[in-house]
Amino acid sequence: MIKIAVYGKGGIGKSTTVSNIAAVFASEGLRVMQIGCDPKADSTVLLRHGEKVETVLDLVRTKKDNFTLEDIVKEGFAGVCCVEAGGPSPGLGCAGRGIIAALETLEKKGAYEKYCPDVVIYDVLGDVVCGGFSMPMRRGYADKVFVITSGENMAIHAAANIAMAVENFKDRGYAQLGGLILNRRNVKNEEEKVAELAEDIHSKVIGTLSRSELVTDAEEQQKTVMEAYPNSPMAEEYRVLAKQIRKLCGI
Ligand code: ATP
Ligand code: MG
Repeated sequence: MIKIAVYGKGGIGKSTTVSNIAAVFASEGLRVMQIGCDPKADSTVLLRHGEKVETVLDLVRTKKDNFTLEDIVKEGFAGVCCVEAGGPSPGLGCAGRGIIAALETLEKKGAYEKYCPDVVIYDVLGDVVCGGFSMPMRRGYADKVFVITSGENMAIHAAANIAMAVENFKDRGYAQLGGLILNRRNVKNEEEKVAELAEDIHSKVIGTLSRSELVTDAEEQQKTVMEAYPNSPMAEEYRVLAKQIRKLCGI
């Protein structure tokens, strides 16, 4: 089982990219589990045609321990196992702690043994790399961290912070930085700026995604591009990225 964490600034395209990659992996025959680590709990909606997955934290809150793995893990497109960690009500409690509690619950309930995923992908909001949000890159939860960025300054700033957090944990045998994924916003000198960031953090740009209307068109249909437009150039871009991730992670 290989565990991948995908981080990036809010709104940069984490959930869309992760869902498309998960769809590629699953259609290639891998068993995939996607875990949304974001209080919004919308990571997996494109894999489930908009149908939400009840969050682990909500279940813990409302049912104490009276719930099963089937309540947490729901099937999505191509058989992807969809999980949402969830979070506290806005303004009440720490979102990061929610992620910790959710990941511990999944482990305690034996989710990895039951579903035997070949790949687990964590989709993690990464503006603030506090203890909770860094959980997926600690304690063996993830093997590799990929960071999505565009050439926009705020995205680059967040990506640099995330890379620094990975670096800080590296010595303890935790996750390694797998590389940067450029999700284009078509800003000036975008490629150069992201290449410069990669150099600064001693990493590489491992894939580039075009800004494409097909992504938002598919989103309107509450689908991934892989499902809505499998023969499009954008679907091919996600396949190329997925292939590169498989290579880097040895999957
Ligand atoms: P959040 O931090 O809020 O969870 P996110 O990083 O998960 O956000 P998404 O929800 O995946 O971001 O994407 C934000 C918006 O950008 C969505 O409307 C999505 O369709 C769009 N988007 C993502 N990638 C692309 C792309 N390559 N081309 C065009 N639109 C894109
Ligand atoms: Mg998201």
